[in-house]
Amino acid sequence: MIVMKFGGSSLADADHIRIVAENIRKNIQNSPVIVISAFGNTTNRLIETGQNAANGTAEFTDIRAEFEEIARDLGLYTGNQSWDILWQDLSLTLANIVKMGYVPDNLKAELLAIGERLSVIIIAEFLTSTGVRAKAHDAWDVGIVFENVINGQCDIEHFTNFNGVKETICNLIEEENHVPIITGFIAKDTNNQVVTLGRNGSDRTAAIIGAALEADEIQYWKDVNGILTADPRVIQDALPVSEISFQEAVELSCFGSEILHPKSIQPARDNNIPVSIRNSHNPNYSGTRVVHQLTDPDPQLRAITFKRDVTLVDICSLDMYGQYGFLAKIFQVFNDLRLSVNLMATSEVSVSLSLDDAHSLGELKTRLGSFSQVKIHDEKAIISLIGNVSKSTWIINKTFKVLNQADIDVLMISQGMSRANISFVVEDSEAENCVGLLHRELFSEKEDNVNVFKKDISEIQ
Ligand code: ASP
Ligand code: MG
Repeated sequence: MIVMKFGGSSLADADHIRIVAENIRKNIQNSPVIVISAFGNTTNRLIETGQNAANGTAEFTDIRAEFEEIARDLGLYTGNQSWDILWQDLSLTLANIVKMGYVPDNLKAELLAIGERLSVIIIAEFLTSTGVRAKAHDAWDVGIVFENVINGQCDIEHFTNFNGVKETICNLIEEENHVPIITGFIAKDTNNQVVTLGRNGSDRTAAIIGAALEADEIQYWKDVNGILTADPRVIQDALPVSEISFQEAVELSCFGSEILHPKSIQPARDNNIPVSIRNSHNPNYSGTRVVHQLTDPDPQLRAITFKRDVTLVDICSLDMYGQYGFLAKIFQVFNDLRLSVNLMATSEVSVSLSLDDAHSLGELKTRLGSFSQVKIHDEKAIISLIGNVSKSTWIINKTFKVLNQADIDVLMISQGMSRANISFVVEDSEAENCVGLLHRELFSEKEDNVNVFKKDISEIQ
């Protein structure tokens, strides 16, 4: 059994949908379970529609016309009951928003859910019309129900009903003998209220379903050739990465890559399920496999990523020398202010750390300042080199050579214990230049960076 998840950009119009349907048909012998997100830009459009309703205008003719046009293009009939129910739900939700004059969390979730609910109907009806037995399901009907929900949003970590999901989906496949087409991104709470898994949450739905089914593979079908050695918007000649470990994938997504959310990786990792990231526009290409056991265990650098607009906090106190409990005191302040730290480096008398969502900085400075000297620097960027960095001297050597030549100062450096990430902080204005220079040195102009890396390592050994 495999889980195939298709994102909005894979489903932007009728032509894309035909390609996706063909892809599903070709995989029929693998018993696919399909997770779908809203087509194209629908979620953003629904958010706008909700805002307009809050300002008094409940109008959705454009969205309706667009969906009906796609359906017609695919040869589907849009006058049946499943469509009517959705348009009525949308109309009612917007009317309720008009009454409220703002978009409360529960109505927002119901509004956004329309996008995914429309998608599954179209995909299921189109597959059926091409001879594949398929049926649309709202996520809650297959057991995606959360007990713990805050502000209309649920966290995948709180999901517990894995057995319920497995039983329901297996029954659908075995007894009703059809391909289940399930809405991503949306769920219900135990009070029967619609909730969401957060923006881009369909990946997380696929992760839950894959873990519940103990699937042979979870496939995330996107619009790129899998994970690349760098963000292609910055590095045009970024190379595809064919295999990556779970740890590397988590580090990559924590430090700037948007391709997979760390929480979409965790359930697969916990349950030992291989994950692949594939290109729905290029289905024959193998993409990137995320695995527990790498085929080639030798040290390899996989990718370079970066995070902009980071704040750096330097804390220094001579009282720290030879003392215990000082870090606890510092972190108590971060805990009280709910500030999340992403990198850290310490010496005997100073601590330097970075924040990506910097808030309450005035209070942070006052509280830390009562027992240390504090300097807060904004407009910094974190550059991360991801891979098996156990041979870190090679990487650090090359990196610093490049940075030295370009006269770029490193403000902090940190190597995580996972040995999958070396990160350093530079001025935000230098981030893209820095990534470009390092990518050229560490990855590109080399047919196979992996082999070059190995060769270089053997030279220094
Ligand atoms: N449609 C939702 C969004 O755009 C969920 C997703 O795309 O995964 O955020
Ligand atoms: Mg989307």
